[in-house]
Amino acid sequence: MSDLLVVGSVALDSVKTPFGAVQEILGGSATYFSYAASFFSPVQLVAVVGEDFPQAHLDLLKRRDVDLTGLQVAKGRTFRWAGEYGYDLNEAKTLDTQLNVFADFRPDLPESYRQPSFLFLANIDPDLQWEILHQVERPRLVAMDTMNFWINGKRQALERILSEADALIINDGEARQLTQEPNLVKAAEAVLAFGPQLVVIKRGEYGAVLFAHGNFFFAPAFPLAAVLDPTGAGDSFAGGFMGALARDGGMDEAGLRRAVVYGSVMASFAVEDFSLRRFTRLRPEEIEERFRAFQEMVTFQ
Ligand code: AMP
Repeated sequence: MSDLLVVGSVALDSVKTPFGAVQEILGGSATYFSYAASFFSPVQLVAVVGEDFPQAHLDLLKRRDVDLTGLQVAKGRTFRWAGEYGYDLNEAKTLDTQLNVFADFRPDLPESYRQPSFLFLANIDPDLQWEILHQVERPRLVAMDTMNFWINGKRQALERILSEADALIINDGEARQLTQEPNLVKAAEAVLAFGPQLVVIKRGEYGAVLFAHGNFFFAPAFPLAAVLDPTGAGDSFAGGFMGALARDGGMDEAGLRRAVVYGSVMASFAVEDFSLRRFTRLRPEEIEERFRAFQEMVTFQ
């Protein structure tokens, strides 16, 4: 089994969708990622939380055997994010971002974290992503994500880390914003020009597209009758994608395509309830069942 390391946010989210509203529930890019990936591979997490972070949330991750040696508890308040969605659930409107303890976070990776085979730089300050990358021996695959907050606020730092990453996993709106290119094929080409050899563009309910080595693969989103909260879909996608690569090892075209489908499977579970609630009820058999349902959905003569 390969090691999978993630750095990203561990957060308290307040979210409003047309189907409900929740206050200060468990969220964060590294949280969704590591929980989703834990169904496939051992995961090591790097992040910081404040003294106000509920122990029950840590216990939830520990029950999935997520390695929390690299999770610091610092004086101060945990990162907080507040967002809202309209009936078009594909786009989150950020109402508030409070970096809190992330503002002064200087990670010093434990020795046991320094040789990951797979590294995911989840959505967080690109300077922090860069620091983590430079504290590990070069992994087999370095993938990353980002969002409008950092594209607008830290563009130079973002381009620096992007030039060293192998893969970018990003949603369509952010790909357009990053590249200033409305056409998605051209946006993908522009991302590749920044440095990565592989880009996955997530398109919410319209699925995900993989561009790699001149090839192109499209996976639909699973047709769900009830989507309660899209928060974390992107990170859960990345968790399924990287987890499947770490578990199965192959990064040839077939392996990458399977990983995109596992990513889509995990995203489809994440959105069925608020926070990580659906994941906490998820049985591994359901992942394989949905994977097969995806296969059937796109097979035709
Ligand atoms: P997504 O998968 O894109 O829906 O990511 C949702 C998660 O990203 C939420 O749980 C938030 O806590 C987290 N988040 C929102 N804004 C930021 C930010 N600027 N930096 C890091 N994490 C964030």
